[in-house]
Amino acid sequence: MKKSEPIIVIGGGASGMMAALEAARCGAKVAILEKEKRIGKKLLATGNGRCNFSNIDPDLRYYHGEDLRLAESVLKQISAEEVLRIFHQLGITHKIEEAGKVYPYSDQGSAVLDVLRYEIEMQNINILTETKAVSIHKKKDYFMIKTNKDELIEAKKVILATGGKAGSQFGADGSGYQLAQSLGHRLVDPFPAIVQLKLHAPWLKAVNGVKWQGQVCYNRNGKCLRTEKGEILFTEYGISGPPVLQLGRLASRQHKNDTVKIDLFPTWGMEQIQAEVYTRLQSNPQKPADFSLVGLLHKKMIPVLLKEAGVDKVGKPSSEITEKEIKNLIYLLKEWEIGVSGTLSWQHAQVTAGGIDTREIHSSGLESQLISGLYLTGEVLDTDGDCGGYNLHWAWCTGLLAGRQAASFL
Ligand SMILES: Cc1cc2nc3c(=O)[nH]c(=O)nc-3n(C[C@H](O)[C@H](O)[C@H](O)COP(=O)(O)OP(=O)(O)OC[C@H]3O[C@@H](n4cnc5c(N)ncnc54)[C@H](O)[C@@H]3O)c2cc1C
Repeated sequence: MKKSEPIIVIGGGASGMMAALEAARCGAKVAILEKEKRIGKKLLATGNGRCNFSNIDPDLRYYHGEDLRLAESVLKQISAEEVLRIFHQLGITHKIEEAGKVYPYSDQGSAVLDVLRYEIEMQNINILTETKAVSIHKKKDYFMIKTNKDELIEAKKVILATGGKAGSQFGADGSGYQLAQSLGHRLVDPFPAIVQLKLHAPWLKAVNGVKWQGQVCYNRNGKCLRTEKGEILFTEYGISGPPVLQLGRLASRQHKNDTVKIDLFPTWGMEQIQAEVYTRLQSNPQKPADFSLVGLLHKKMIPVLLKEAGVDKVGKPSSEITEKEIKNLIYLLKEWEIGVSGTLSWQHAQVTAGGIDTREIHSSGLESQLISGLYLTGEVLDTDGDCGGYNLHWAWCTGLLAGRQAASFL
C-alpha cells in the first residue's frame, strides 16, 4: 500500500512532537511515524517523573559535541523565554529550581505529554504508531519511506527525529543513524552520556544504598577534568546520583587508570576534619574504633573506610589505631580515590553523545546540507547537553526550527 503526506516526522519523541506541531501551526499537513505504541513515552520518565523540560540559562557551555556551531546558532535563534511561552500557551505553568532547572508547576511530567498530545490532536496531525521507518530514499523531489509494515509512504519533506540510543526501553534504538547514513550523512560514534559510573572496588556491596552529600572529581593522568557536587549514591556497581551522572560522558570515553576522587566533606577544611577525627579517636581510647566514628560517617561506610586506611580489625580500641592509619583515614575523607571501570549501558543512560555530524546541517532550519527537504532534530544530532533540562530544551528548539522551515517551503 502506498500513502502520501506532505511532511513526515519520523519519531514521536520530544523533538518530533514539537516539529510536527510547529509545521502544522504554520499550515502544513503532517504525519508522525512512531515505532512504539504511543508517542512521547520517554517524556514520562524524564526528571524522575517530574520532567525537567528546560533551563532558564541554556548557555553553550552546557552542551557538547565535535562542532558546536550549530548548537550556538540554534540557541541564539530560540530563547528560553520562547520555549517557556510556548509551553505556557499549551497549558504548562512552570517553576524554576536550583541551577535554573525548569519543571511544570504541577510537578507532573505527564502534564507536558498531555498538553502536547492534546494540541497534536487539535492540529489534526496524523499519528501512525507501531510504525517504524526501516528505509528511506530520495527520488527527484520527494522521499519514499518504507515501514516495518511493508508500507511505502511518500513525503515531500522528512523530519528525522528518531533520537539516539540512550533510554533504549523507551524506543531509542539508533535506527535513525542508519536512515541518515543511508542518505550520505556521517555518524560521529555514539556513546552514553548522563550515565552512572562503574568503579573498581571490592567493598561496593558493603556501601550499597548509601547517599552522601559530597564532591566528585573525575581524574585522568593525575589531572582533575571535571568536579561536581551533590548527592552521591553508592551502589553495587559503583556510584550514581546527579553529580556522578554529569561525569558519565568522561567515563564513557574512559582511559586506563581513570579515577574519581570523592571529597566526603567538601564544606570542611583540612584542619577541621583533622581535629574532628583526632578528637573522636583519641579522647576515649577504650571505645571501639568503628564506634568512635558513628555520628560522623554513615555506619555502612565506617568499616570500609577504616579498612581502606589500613586498619585490620575495625572494632579494636581506638587507642590501637596508629598515627599512620589516622592520617590515611583523614586523607580518605577528603580524597577517596577509586578506579573507574566504565559506565552502565544504553538502557541506563539518559542521553547519547555523538550522532549525526552537525557540520552537515544548515543552522537556520536544521535542513540537511546533503539532501534538500530532509531535516534532523534533537538527540539524533551530535549535540548533547548536561543534566539540567538542556537536552529537552535542545529537542524543543531544534523541533521548532525544523517544523517552521519544513512548512515554509511546501
Ligand atoms: C530516564 C531519562 C530521563 C531524562 N530526563 C531528562 C530531563 O529531566 N531533562 C532533559 O532535558 N532531558 C532528559 N532526558 C533526555 C531527553 O529525554 C532526550 O534528550 C529527548 O527526549 C530527546 O528527544 P528526541 O526527540 O531527540 O528523541 P526521543 O525523545 O528519544 O524520541 C525519539 C522517538 O523516535 C522513535 N523512533 C526511533 N527510531 C524510529 C524509527 N526508525 N521509526 C519510527 N520511530 C522511531 C522512538 O521510539 C522515540 O519515540 C532524559 C532521558 C531519559 C532516558
